[in-house]
Amino acid sequence: MKKYNILIAIMLSAIQGMTQEGARQSFHFPDVNGYQVLKADLHTHSVFSDGMVWPSLRVEEAWREGLDIIAITEHIEYRPNKADVNGDHNRSFAIAKEQADKAGILVIPGSEITRKMPPGHFNALFITDANKLEVPDWKEAFREARRQGAFIFWNHPGWKAQQPDSARWMPEHQMLFDSGYMEGIEIANYEEWYPSALRWAFNRNLTLLGNSDIHGAIYQQYEVHKGKHRPITLIFAKNSTLTEIHEALKQRRTAVLFDGMVIGREEWLTPMIKSTIEVNPYPSASTESRITMVLENKSDLDVMLYPTPQSIAKGVIYPVAIPARSKVLLSLRLKDDEMKAMPSHTVQMTVKDWYTKENTTLTMDLTFKR
Ligand SMILES: [Zn+2]
Ligand SMILES: [Zn+2]
Repeated sequence: MKKYNILIAIMLSAIQGMTQEGARQSFHFPDVNGYQVLKADLHTHSVFSDGMVWPSLRVEEAWREGLDIIAITEHIEYRPNKADVNGDHNRSFAIAKEQADKAGILVIPGSEITRKMPPGHFNALFITDANKLEVPDWKEAFREARRQGAFIFWNHPGWKAQQPDSARWMPEHQMLFDSGYMEGIEIANYEEWYPSALRWAFNRNLTLLGNSDIHGAIYQQYEVHKGKHRPITLIFAKNSTLTEIHEALKQRRTAVLFDGMVIGREEWLTPMIKSTIEVNPYPSASTESRITMVLENKSDLDVMLYPTPQSIAKGVIYPVAIPARSKVLLSLRLKDDEMKAMPSHTVQMTVKDWYTKENTTLTMDLTFKR
């Protein structure tokens, strides 16, 4: 009997191991202002340019990491594998799409216009024929992308190989911006992020993007099994279709997840933290001199709140950790009769690692009421 139990235990652990291996990570955020929060990586490569993996693996990686949307954006002008992999510029999208349709992932057709600085590298998404972007004059490549209705953004604007001293916004970039060709900018790419790009994005109302630009396998680069993620563009959209995603990007409805940080415009991060952390009274733990609330994290991202001088003055002095998908209790001691007489008390906390500007963390109001 004992032998059988051991055998069953071994079999069970093998099955569990197998399930974990093939599992899709839960990586969820509740809806924000009636929009879904979709997870996208809009800049990846495959063997069809200078990447090391087949396009369908990009879909598989995205599925496992819990992403909803990817774009495989091969370099138009740089194809070192061409002698061995000789499909045209549209081929990797076609291969990825076949797999993506089965997996429920949206693949956006796109290419990387790959020019020396200026203007540097740009991704053109939602194009209809990537082959037509292969033209000698870079300006003509932009015009063609635009004729095809592309959404175009500046890739890795602070990349040292192209901007060795400091990231500069050059006359060519101004021209692309003025003509409406440049609508977005990567503030994070691969393992770096660019504060100057964040300033440019805010000053010029560009869409914020954060992408992996992955060439190898995702699991070689990021410890996804430990909850770490590639840079991700969060898109606030009604659904995951090409039309809706295109519209959301044009409307600047994005935020960026990079290395544990959430970076975005206050107008999106404020409603996002509200839907992520639900705050409700917890009457059974409240007394005459204490109000207790339950803080519920409805996302798969850990959240940490820090007291501000305002909350410290009101009596909330310690940081509050609210791990993903969990509830914690937080009490406010009412110091005097005046406080006890008030129907509710609002304290301001800062949300650790959520940035609305380079050095500004998001603040959140917590209202204590019975
Ligand atoms: Zn590039
Ligand atoms: Zn790239």
